[in-house]
Amino acid sequence: MPKKPEDIIRDEIRALTAYHVPDPGGMVKLDAMENPYRLPPEVCRALAESLAGAALNRYPDPGARELKTRLRTAMQIPSAMDLVLGNGSDELIQMLALAVAKPGALMLGFEPSFVMFRMIATFAGMRYVGLPLNADFTIDTATAVAAVEQHQPALIFIAYPNNPSGNLFDADAIARIIHAAPGLVIVDEAYHAFAGRSFMPRLAEFPNLLVMRTVSKLGLAGLRLGLLAGHSAWLHHVDKVRLPYNVNVLTQLAATEVLQHRDVLEAQAAAIRSERTRLLAELRRLPGVETYASEANFILFRVTKADQVFSGLKQRGVLIKNLHGTHPLLADCLRVTVGTPAENTQFLSALTAILNP
Ligand code: PMP
Repeated sequence: MPKKPEDIIRDEIRALTAYHVPDPGGMVKLDAMENPYRLPPEVCRALAESLAGAALNRYPDPGARELKTRLRTAMQIPSAMDLVLGNGSDELIQMLALAVAKPGALMLGFEPSFVMFRMIATFAGMRYVGLPLNADFTIDTATAVAAVEQHQPALIFIAYPNNPSGNLFDADAIARIIHAAPGLVIVDEAYHAFAGRSFMPRLAEFPNLLVMRTVSKLGLAGLRLGLLAGHSAWLHHVDKVRLPYNVNVLTQLAATEVLQHRDVLEAQAAAIRSERTRLLAELRRLPGVETYASEANFILFRVTKADQVFSGLKQRGVLIKNLHGTHPLLADCLRVTVGTPAENTQFLSALTAILNP
């Protein structure tokens, strides 16, 4: 008699709820921090030409050398630092967890933050401690340093800017945490294009710091490509956990091509930053809406009845993210991704109609 799944699947995996991705149907999609802009026709043509020459009969270059060279320039990675690429930054988080998951090893994160940190700790069999942020989503530095000393985490993840709050933590608080950490600190800069601040130029200052980036929010979420930059003393071990061909031929070629058009990507990011300013100003004018300033491509805001507002928006064809119930600090909070001017206007009119029936 074969055993049942409940006898075989690990308890902590059975207890998980799968990461839920809603079907947007024909709705205005402002739920997943995607860049709303497609590439211009001339870049698409260059891309098509490059992809037409792809040797799909061959495995990809496991070292992704050409792409890495391009990323080093595009992301201003210090030349002394090493680079590991992932199938999205999600995969890099998983590689890090797999590489350090000795029995009892612990991951520390702040909450609320990106939920995959905790989920991947569970996948890898690591213990996880989530330190609550202050009510304004800042880090309580003294408590954080004490927690690091107490728990001795192998990994600490810090999203900079943070998702879902959108703020940049105080750089000195992060530096103190890195100094106190016995293991690795990963500063996750997924939203760097909208923030400007970075720990990338400071890698040499901290032997236990890694900086993680992704091309997802730059307009290339469909490619699945993330990177870890840092000291090779750490990264050459992390790289051993990487499956040899994790970044496929098409992704390598497409990213190499598109990153030659950084002016296009930068113009799109600038348009998103300017729409963020408008969206925030308009949200602040609405009665019963509490907003949080953002350095990312989304805005967190609080209403009196998030569930009702969320479903009202859906009925009006706008999909955002409902965070109510996910963490006590996020009670009645919603998160909207900055879209095109037309999408943002549609979202604002729907929201106005719901709040002023
Ligand atoms: N880090 C943070 C803070 C994020 O919010 C996200 C995506 N929501 C990711 C990483 C994952 O990015 P990727 O698409 O590269 O896996």
